[in-house]
Amino acid sequence: MEHFIKDKQYNIGHICTGQQCEAGFGDKVAMRWLSSHLEQRDYTFSELDQTTARFANVLQGLGVAPGDVFFTLLPKMPEQFFAFLGALKLQTIVGTLFSNFGEEAILDRVGDAGASAIITKKSFLKKISRIRDRLPTLRFIIVVDIDQHQSDDILSYSRLMEQASDSFYVAHTPPETPSVLHYTSGSTGKPKGVLHAHRSILMQRFTAETVLGLTPDDVFWCTADQGWVTGTSYGIIGPWSMGVTQVHFGGGYNAEEWFRILQNQGITVLYSAPTALRMLMREDAGLYAGFDLKALRHICSVGEPLNPEVIHWARRTIDKEVYDTWFQTETGAIMIANRPGLEIRPGSMGVPVAGIEPAIIADDGSIILDGAPGNLCIQAGWASMFTTYLNNPEIYASRIRAGYYYTGDTAYRDADGYYWFRGRSDDVINTSGHLISPFEIESTLIEVPEVAEAGVIGAPDELLFEKVIAFVALRSQVVFSRELELKIRLHVSNKLSSVATPHEIICLDSIPKNKSGKIMRRVLKARYLGIDAGDISTLED
Ligand code: AMP
Repeated sequence: MEHFIKDKQYNIGHICTGQQCEAGFGDKVAMRWLSSHLEQRDYTFSELDQTTARFANVLQGLGVAPGDVFFTLLPKMPEQFFAFLGALKLQTIVGTLFSNFGEEAILDRVGDAGASAIITKKSFLKKISRIRDRLPTLRFIIVVDIDQHQSDDILSYSRLMEQASDSFYVAHTPPETPSVLHYTSGSTGKPKGVLHAHRSILMQRFTAETVLGLTPDDVFWCTADQGWVTGTSYGIIGPWSMGVTQVHFGGGYNAEEWFRILQNQGITVLYSAPTALRMLMREDAGLYAGFDLKALRHICSVGEPLNPEVIHWARRTIDKEVYDTWFQTETGAIMIANRPGLEIRPGSMGVPVAGIEPAIIADDGSIILDGAPGNLCIQAGWASMFTTYLNNPEIYASRIRAGYYYTGDTAYRDADGYYWFRGRSDDVINTSGHLISPFEIESTLIEVPEVAEAGVIGAPDELLFEKVIAFVALRSQVVFSRELELKIRLHVSNKLSSVATPHEIICLDSIPKNKSGKIMRRVLKARYLGIDAGDISTLED
């Protein structure tokens, strides 16, 4: 796995750029950028090396140091990639934020990490300025689309870049050096910062080769946003660490455009999420019949359970296999997967990647061997394992017991070693691959003056896997109305993000809680689904 590490240099920024040039890929296209209007711009590995070097110099010039935290708050655009790898070259920790995050979501993450700089777009400046006084450590805001510096600390990316040198000496980076930071949601408390180390590249490259099946001749398209671990592990690191050309598209989901990109760009491997694949599946058959996808070898999927129907649909209509893969922010790379050369069991996540030792463990800590469901755990110590939850070492410690990391998922293993996803062992909601904390949404809902209490659940959804359902109890005298519903929705969307915005808001007289005052989401869910809530003896009177 370590064969590509030269002189013990683990720096992700260097391996994905300078090292590719040294290997003779300097003139090869690293990134084919397609704007939302499908305008095309190619960046070679050599350009990627120089541009990321410039950015490393920019950060260094601003006094950002190795070990400091730097965030990106950008939609998919070339600068996202330059900033990410440039920061890593400097050994700065780089966190990526979804650009649709609202101010509260940004504040929680940037504030928790004590970040010193952020790169963003002009249109997002308003969100940041509203929380700026609560971010005392934030020294610089770099803006990609302003020509001139706006003030001493709101700086123009292009001005900074034109003044910076395109050569940067990447210091020797040992494997444990902190690298990437992604925030993940739990069912209680604020989102936690999952910190990775440069050594993660070992596993990201290994799985890019052995699971996604990539070789340097491939043209790879990973549709994931860089705010999510898939977007960094496989939309940046894994493929570029082995000189693969990646296509990145700045537009959203549009079936026809997606098929056109697959065809015209000669994409050989596509990595996407079940929600998108289910959307493709729903399109009229006439749409994709006209496209020639002979370059495409296979499709991989991640983020939510992959329905067997999608696998059957792809076989039947486009004659391709879809391989489901499982991993999470904390694992940094794919752990369990279907992959080329292995019989697919539709509905199963596949088998462990070489060297990964999962186990199904009962709540009492005993290992389950007979195929019954239990906690999905992974023996700690794999190369891309996160190093901690930033500022939360006790939660990190609580997730590792007897040498096993508890993933928070439940699953079972069949007699042939295939793993089958059952669900989460907590209340975290997975909506189209985004993990969302019910707690965060509840906290945001009760900020609306009319709302006295709130409880949030995830309910099954055909397209999104789960949808967000909010229950609210209103203050006395307040009447639930269409306007109030809209106001609540808007508030969640502005403060948290559009994906966290409830699909349905249901008004109740009170929110069921247990005797210690904890919201009983299980009872709300049962009520919503019209099923028995089970033991409700702890429900408050
Ligand atoms: P995240 O940390 O945001 O990447 O979310 C990881 C979680 O998404 C996992 O713990 C699972 O609950 C879910 N997930 C990811 N991949 C799959 C998959 N292939 N099948 C089922 N659930 C998945």
